[in-house]
Amino acid sequence: MQAYQNQEIKIYNSLSGKKEVFKPINDGYVGMYSCGPTVYSNVHLGNVRTFMSFDMIYRYLLHIGFKVRYVRNITDAGHLTDDADTGEDKIAKKARLEKIEPMEVVQRYTVDFHNILNKLNFLPVSIEPTATGHIIEQIEIIKTIIDKGLAYEVNGSVYFDVLKYNETKTYGILSKRNVEDLIHNTRTLDGQSDKKNPQDFALWKKAEPQHIMRWPSPWSDGFPGWHLECTAMSTKYLGEKFDIHGGGMDLKFPHHECEIAQAEACNDESPVNYWMHANMLIMNGKKMAKSTGNFILPNQIFSGDNEHITKAFAPSVARFFMLQAHYRSILDFTNNGLLASEKGFHRLMDAINNIDNLSPSEDSSLDVDAWRQKCYDAMNDDFNSPILIAHLFDASKYINQIKEGKATITKLHLELLKTTMHQFTFDVLGLENVSKSEVGTDKLSSAVDLLIRLRQDARANKDFALSDKIRDELAEAGIHLKDGKDGTSFSTN
Ligand SMILES: [Zn+2]
Repeated sequence: MQAYQNQEIKIYNSLSGKKEVFKPINDGYVGMYSCGPTVYSNVHLGNVRTFMSFDMIYRYLLHIGFKVRYVRNITDAGHLTDDADTGEDKIAKKARLEKIEPMEVVQRYTVDFHNILNKLNFLPVSIEPTATGHIIEQIEIIKTIIDKGLAYEVNGSVYFDVLKYNETKTYGILSKRNVEDLIHNTRTLDGQSDKKNPQDFALWKKAEPQHIMRWPSPWSDGFPGWHLECTAMSTKYLGEKFDIHGGGMDLKFPHHECEIAQAEACNDESPVNYWMHANMLIMNGKKMAKSTGNFILPNQIFSGDNEHITKAFAPSVARFFMLQAHYRSILDFTNNGLLASEKGFHRLMDAINNIDNLSPSEDSSLDVDAWRQKCYDAMNDDFNSPILIAHLFDASKYINQIKEGKATITKLHLELLKTTMHQFTFDVLGLENVSKSEVGTDKLSSAVDLLIRLRQDARANKDFALSDKIRDELAEAGIHLKDGKDGTSFSTN
């Protein structure tokens, strides 16, 4: 691994709005934090995209030889339904609606989250801490901020004093908002709030009698504010100052802004050197939302059981599709986009599978060393996976030309080409070499289509015993037939 370590990476830093050369705090080591899911429902595809961006970044940093401690938390308390510190805890609300324990909600959706990530071949993170496992650390931070005079207690709740903080520091430094504008734009709260100013945010909330997720503290039986957990867990595992903090664009304000303020209030220095934000995922050109029906669950992509797609797609194809967009670009999730990615994915895998069958020549018609450096250059330029993929396609074309006798390669270059293709495709992009029959269900589709036709014949002949038998036995094998207006389709979930 040492051999790659002299790559110079440039990272687009949301804090400066510029690409900057990446210099880790400790030579050879990277501390990276990304905000994890709030586990109150199935993981959202947009969040999967964000986590995948950081998985790819993590993989590349490992590949070039860094020792990386990657911390991604699980939010299992404190995240309210409303950003203005009102509303119900998202997990407690789900528990109430489903009449189960909050920790059952947490367990169910943490398992779902891990299942989806495993299917998509994510690397496990180094530490996956939970908010409820770090209540003591959060209380300690609140005490420090109160001692510094930057937080105040009212009726058992504690709030961060944004105006006071802004006298010596800059609140809004990341999202480029200024406090004056925030004051003008924040609606004054109905007399319900204990806050001095509406832009103050909760560090600790006193629990109402019916609130079941509660812990003792010096101020009240209550629960920590959502922004605080990330400060507590990143400080605990990565230190007061660390290299990279990532998350979705939507977390920049207020969540990350508050994280900066809390950490600066405690330690008098900015906690993070490089802030990275992944862009949104939309679907068919519109915001993805359950309420409008413009929505798909990650598992439905793999089963094909969703009206917005015409077939099932393998997790590796979905992964390839997502990484074909740069992490800072908006990604439009469409059936056609997936179909195109599936073709490209197979083209790439076919080329990789063909490398072993190539015979070397005296010379090479492609400068493989230069091509390999281009792959690194793409990733060094703010982790530009789509450009990397374009280079992998160039190599695929080259491989096919060698196969057809239209190009040549030396033995040494052949080895280098193979190693590089494997490293970038499997180690860095995290794709898996699945064959068409495993992925595309082409063979399965034709076999099931045949059974669907036989079932139709049986029904036409009023042989319902046979038609039911076909349906039931397929269902037992995990293949579910769906009769609709336009005929019968199937899904495999
Ligand atoms: Zn966070």
